[in-house]
Amino acid sequence: MTTDIASNLTQVRRRITLAAKRAGRDPAEVKLIAVSKTKPAAAVRDAIAARCHAFGENKVQEAEGKISEIGQEGAEWHLIGHLQKNKARSAVQLFDVIHSIDSPELVHRLERICGEEGKWTLDVLIQVDLAGEETKSGVAETQLQLLVEVLKRCEHLRFVGLMALPPFFDDPEDARPFFQRLRAIRDRLRDEGAFTAGDGELSMGMTHDLEVAIEEGATMVRVGTAIFGERN
Ligand SMILES: *Cc1c(COP(=O)(O)O)cnc(C)c1O
Repeated sequence: MTTDIASNLTQVRRRITLAAKRAGRDPAEVKLIAVSKTKPAAAVRDAIAARCHAFGENKVQEAEGKISEIGQEGAEWHLIGHLQKNKARSAVQLFDVIHSIDSPELVHRLERICGEEGKWTLDVLIQVDLAGEETKSGVAETQLQLLVEVLKRCEHLRFVGLMALPPFFDDPEDARPFFQRLRAIRDRLRDEGAFTAGDGELSMGMTHDLEVAIEEGATMVRVGTAIFGERN
């Protein structure tokens, strides 16, 4: 198994490098987040041994066990799934970055808990629902500005970027307009000085469509299947 994950990682890194070069970008601008959801801590350890440092989990409860096995300092932990309000405290305790901010209530709660827990800074991204898919989390574009204003007033939460999860298409080219849209929103927010730190990360692109996402400016790709294999 060890060799599988290591060679899968090599292949994914090659895909990232090629896509970045094709787009005239520095591959180092694209951070790989290995999505370890449903996979055991042993798989995470294999990836760490292959010099992977950032992991994505979509469920707080599942991540809890894994992070305590690996250790919080052993890697950088990203929450990429919907965060329920009753899991906010655990999320603050466990994660370094939360990609799935989608309501002012959640922002207020996380900000308060960061203060209570002595967590000085927590990096967050707003998840934007570009397709108006009711079944997925994320904030509608019409609600985005309000959320940005709320984040601006936070002391502990640092608004660092945007995340999107476009609908699945057989042809990854069909996801391109969604990636372009997210980038356009990011550019506008950046010009307005909306981000607390940095130029605005773009968390977009997965196993199936990471090349297109990188061509459209992704700075974080969230890749599970291509690294850890199919999920059950
Ligand atoms: C599962 C998941 C991924 C990874 O998907 P793969 O197709 O396995 O690469 C990325 N982002 C989110 C939000 C996910 O839930």
